[in-house]
Amino acid sequence: MNPTRPSEHGRDILPHRPVNGVRPASRGLLSIVIPCHNEEEVIESTHQRLVAALPSTGMDFEILYIDDGSRDGTLSRLEAIAAGDPRATVIELSRNFGQQSAMSAGLAQARGDAVVIIDADLQDPPEVIPEMVECWRSGADVAYGRRRSREGETWFKLVTASCFHRFFASLVPYPIPVDTGDFKLLDRAVVDAVRGLPEKRRYLRSLVAWTGFRQEPVWYDRHARSAGETKYSTRKLLRLALDAVMLSSDTPLRAAWWGAGFLTTLAVGAALLACLMPAGDGTLVATITALIALVGAIQTTAVAIVGEYVIRTYREVQGRPSWVVKRTIGGNAGSEAGHEHRPGARAA
Ligand code: UDP
Ligand code: MG
Repeated sequence: MNPTRPSEHGRDILPHRPVNGVRPASRGLLSIVIPCHNEEEVIESTHQRLVAALPSTGMDFEILYIDDGSRDGTLSRLEAIAAGDPRATVIELSRNFGQQSAMSAGLAQARGDAVVIIDADLQDPPEVIPEMVECWRSGADVAYGRRRSREGETWFKLVTASCFHRFFASLVPYPIPVDTGDFKLLDRAVVDAVRGLPEKRRYLRSLVAWTGFRQEPVWYDRHARSAGETKYSTRKLLRLALDAVMLSSDTPLRAAWWGAGFLTTLAVGAALLACLMPAGDGTLVATITALIALVGAIQTTAVAIVGEYVIRTYREVQGRPSWVVKRTIGGNAGSEAGHEHRPGARAA
């Protein structure tokens, strides 16, 4: 990696490497990535709020709008925004690929030293971005928005989201913050680490957590949607939740071991009972129970063993590296060490 990177403004930007854990306050480039699907009612005010809030970060900025197959007037409004503001770029996807793909498309194009992902609907206030930049400058690699409160959501959504976040965190084998969405700032090293992952099907929230690095919360109040409606039906949300779990956790497949353990215990218990109790109808019931449980235990164990192979095959195909280097100190560290991530070889 070259220690300096040309910016869109025609000058070189020093990478924001932390020095003694703190990043220098030189300008640098901040990219804002915004997935948009049918957001015509709100997109202009989103742009106005962003350009009003971003100068106080002290950074140059670019705003990347990803039009994810909108069928309303979103695209023409975005075109007008880009025509009037050279800091805005519109990336039009060829159809609706979903928010996760739209965000990844934005990350792929973002050139900033830091990248903020934010929804188009002003639920995440752009005024929080300067705080995220401060958090990043003080050494965090990911400054994630953590919701203190959530306006405008039904109690059903609040309860299910809160339960899901906690359930999901318990299934995933690395720390993942709860009560957060996609509103966050990522350091260039984290963006590169996420972009370097070869998997196509993505759940960005857990991929960012997977990369590790120093991740810190920035607390904020999440507002109600400024206009328009949520793009997530209950069915779409359930599909997303299933994707999140399947992509990030082996626990559902491993649950077969619990079934095998239960059935084995039942088989042994019923067999002991059959041996110890005096002969009669009870012995017959216990013997039949033991036999049925034994057959069930053998079958469930077979499923669990197949599951172990499936887990390994799936994780190999997913192709995530076995480690991410945050930096190398001394020796042949080189001038880039403080800012570089190098995906390791795949697991054997
Ligand atoms: N979005 C998208 N593609 C989709 C659905 C949503 O790019 O297929 C965008 C949407 O325009 C918004 C963000 O993703 O900027 C979050 O969507 P929404 O506000 O509907 O989700 P909610 O906040 O209700 O969970
Ligand atoms: Mg929203």
